[in-house]
Amino acid sequence: CGIVGYIGKRDVAPLLLEGLQRLEYRGYDSAGIAIQSKSSGLKTAKAKGRVRELESRIPKRFAGTCGIAHTRWATHGAPNDVNAHPHLDPAEKVAVVHNGIIDNADDLRAKLGAEGITLVSDTDTEVLAHLIGRAQEETLEARVREALRHIEGTYGIAVLHADFPDRIVVARNGSPVVLGIGEHEMFVASDVAALVSHTRQVVTLNDGEMATIKADDYRTYTTEGSRTSTSPETVEWAA
Ligand code: GLU
Repeated sequence: CGIVGYIGKRDVAPLLLEGLQRLEYRGYDSAGIAIQSKSSGLKTAKAKGRVRELESRIPKRFAGTCGIAHTRWATHGAPNDVNAHPHLDPAEKVAVVHNGIIDNADDLRAKLGAEGITLVSDTDTEVLAHLIGRAQEETLEARVREALRHIEGTYGIAVLHADFPDRIVVARNGSPVVLGIGEHEMFVASDVAALVSHTRQVVTLNDGEMATIKADDYRTYTTEGSRTSTSPETVEWAA
């Protein structure tokens, strides 16, 4: 349903919670957050119910300057804590938030199961975390690309990886993804409403497009890996 992400210098949890609150009007049944911290890797918190509920579950020491968050509107699996996003791979290095529906999730679950991989949730999204986690490619971008080759359906995704702490990788196919370009900080969201209090400079991804955001730059490319050229537009917004 709703995606927010941030990479920069500021403490990320309050920023992401504020972003999620700005997306609440769209409706949702649960919420979650993953934070990348250079010292302690990936940390997550999830809760069925309101963003307020999630906020109350965030541990005190949840510091970091890079993270992703989600409000879920369940399509596969009941609304509960476990099915809330982000979803992780078994090594807990990959965190994925996803809007949309993976049509061949049952097939992919069966294939992963046959390899001995146990899924912990009932969601379609979790397969994506596993596919990215087991990909062997050198870069995170190539691993996400490899995982997406197996996916049929719609997605807007944002991905963190503990081994690539300087970036967030996002992709769009049928579910909106917008980048927000700041000063030494970058945002990503499924809806400009989550960004406009921080920046008016936005890049809207097209279907079949991916992006890497780092604190100081971003680049866009197709899901086949060739660069696309995009320049930020200024959005007008009556608050
Ligand atoms: N299909 C995913 C799920 O049920 C994502 C739903 C959404 O867009 O929030 O978890």
